[in-house]
Amino acid sequence: MKQSFYFLIFFLASASFYQCQPSIENTDVLAEDAPFEWVADTVADLQILRYQIPGWDKLSLQQKKLVYYLNQAGLAGRDIIWDQNYRYNLAIRRALETIVATYSGDKTSPEWNQFMSYAKRVWFSNGIHHHYSNDKFLPTFSKEYLASLLEATGATLPKEIVTAMFDPEMDMKKVSLDTETDQILQSASNFYAPVITQSEVEAFYAKRIDKSEKKAISYGLNSRMVRNANGDLIEDIYKANGLYGPAIQEMIKWLTLAAGVAENEPQKKALDLLIKYYQIGDLKIWDEYNIAWAQATEGDIDYITGFVEVYNDPLGYRGSFETIVQIKDFEASERMQVLSQNAQWFEDNSTILPKHKKANVVGISYNVVNVAGEAGDATPSTPIGVNLPNASWIRELYGSKSVSLGNIIEAYDQASGPAILEEFAHDEEEIARAKEFGGLGDKLSTALHEVIGHASGKLNPGVGTKKETLKGYASTLEEARADVVGLYFIMDPKLIELGLIPSLEVGKAEYDSYINNGLMKQLRRIEPGKDVEEAHMRNRQLIAAWVFEKGQPDKVIEKVTRDGKTFYNINDYDKLRILFGQLLREIQRIKSEGDYKAGKALVESYGVKVDQALHQEVLDRVKPFHIPPYNGFIQPEFVPELDADGQIIDIKVTQPKDFIQQMLGYGKKYSFLK
Ligand code: ZN
Repeated sequence: MKQSFYFLIFFLASASFYQCQPSIENTDVLAEDAPFEWVADTVADLQILRYQIPGWDKLSLQQKKLVYYLNQAGLAGRDIIWDQNYRYNLAIRRALETIVATYSGDKTSPEWNQFMSYAKRVWFSNGIHHHYSNDKFLPTFSKEYLASLLEATGATLPKEIVTAMFDPEMDMKKVSLDTETDQILQSASNFYAPVITQSEVEAFYAKRIDKSEKKAISYGLNSRMVRNANGDLIEDIYKANGLYGPAIQEMIKWLTLAAGVAENEPQKKALDLLIKYYQIGDLKIWDEYNIAWAQATEGDIDYITGFVEVYNDPLGYRGSFETIVQIKDFEASERMQVLSQNAQWFEDNSTILPKHKKANVVGISYNVVNVAGEAGDATPSTPIGVNLPNASWIRELYGSKSVSLGNIIEAYDQASGPAILEEFAHDEEEIARAKEFGGLGDKLSTALHEVIGHASGKLNPGVGTKKETLKGYASTLEEARADVVGLYFIMDPKLIELGLIPSLEVGKAEYDSYINNGLMKQLRRIEPGKDVEEAHMRNRQLIAAWVFEKGQPDKVIEKVTRDGKTFYNINDYDKLRILFGQLLREIQRIKSEGDYKAGKALVESYGVKVDQALHQEVLDRVKPFHIPPYNGFIQPEFVPELDADGQIIDIKVTQPKDFIQQMLGYGKKYSFLK
């Protein structure tokens, strides 16, 4: 399962830049000493960003090789996702590549610009359907103009494919979720040969799938459904000597190199099974692989690869090809470890009632990784977190891995820039503090939330689990408790003593940001007229609104109106901390006692209702910034340095300057399918 950008609801515009990555002398890449540019390009409703790879220089040569080989294996499968998304995508992409690379005519005309914008949208979505809405986007240039470009460059496209590009009726949806129609016939994704109907497929799998089977294999995951000579349905398997064979053979070549430099035995065992699975195409081996992968938890490098997520098949059988290569976030891991080792200190010094404290608290482990490379369905648009494997019986018996993609989230924060921060900040001091300490405040509050917050407190004997007792308010209250633990401790001098923060200014930056977000900024994610629905958003408003109200007698937080705009200014950070402590005690009491009535009252009074006038004001204030709704990434590239014998002696990371150049380069280097 993947978590998308829409789960990312914190908006700190932090300013902690990672070190620039080294780069070689090359005009197609960002210079080593130039400031890092987070935003590379925008087109239509899309923004193309870059991310950095912190920790690369801490890797050994063997680890760098492992990352490089895994990334190459992923890129080798790039054509697969194009073909899976739509049967004509590869032909269209190749024609676009030839035109963009070789056309020497007028590149200033409106039609050329429209053509380039179309090409970028196709590259961004791995095909001619929008990556998020699934709708086919139509060219805004004419068929005649396309014909002239094809002729001028010698590129070719059969007439039926040109029709498919321009016809507003044909193959309009990549994935149709309309249950009133035949979803397979209505979907353009290429998992079923034309013309196979939904009822035929359902009948096919009804015969094979035994619902009582506890260790059910993931039927259909690695195949396209076609008809044999007799017209019967069969699965055309993705494997080394089957469908997508040339790309899969190339993947196997790189995975074999990767297995040779694995960090440990469990990692090697998983890679060997993955290779075997690609060779044979047997889904039982896929399950064995997933078990080995879930159990390979040691090491600094990890990855996700294969035919994994099934969202592009309307019936949810067939997996889209993707790869994400990850490096442990050393900084975050260290932070988590320090907190975890001191979990008991935080519990003992919490404001919750002594009878609700745990005598032996254990910090919760939480994984932040940095992405080193993505391929297939995971790019240019990327998830921000992933939880795998998908098979629920494997998760139950062997565990799962849940990761948050730290440097991707960092890139989103950086790309949004200081504009939103400056718009909503009350004064210059707040802006300066956010720029200096906001990034650390954000990361540390996440760590406190996950490691200490969710681990804290105990239920009274006889009180059932939170889900049964607090019903629909359970997750909001659980998230609120975790947040408010973080808020209480982020202003604690203990954090300085532990070496986690340089000064309490970090805590103040977090307080500014939290109050602004909870009372104003997050409203930009809500449609006009709607209440707050999502649990994290509810808990943030609840906490901010509660401390605002309770602090009114002392003017702890002041509401200021200036030039018709609303601002919140914190006058007393220490008193605010005491209020967070009081709220923490109350929320823990509600949880420990299972006090449904009080929990409901708290959420309903503070967390749900939106001030319509303020909401409209927020929407009006963010509108001029034109932040495109969808983001994707240029991928960093790896450049091996060889000695005289052709042995790799180091691997450098470069940041391509240009999305188009990367797409053209990929088209040349990783084109393994016809
Ligand atoms: Zn949480």
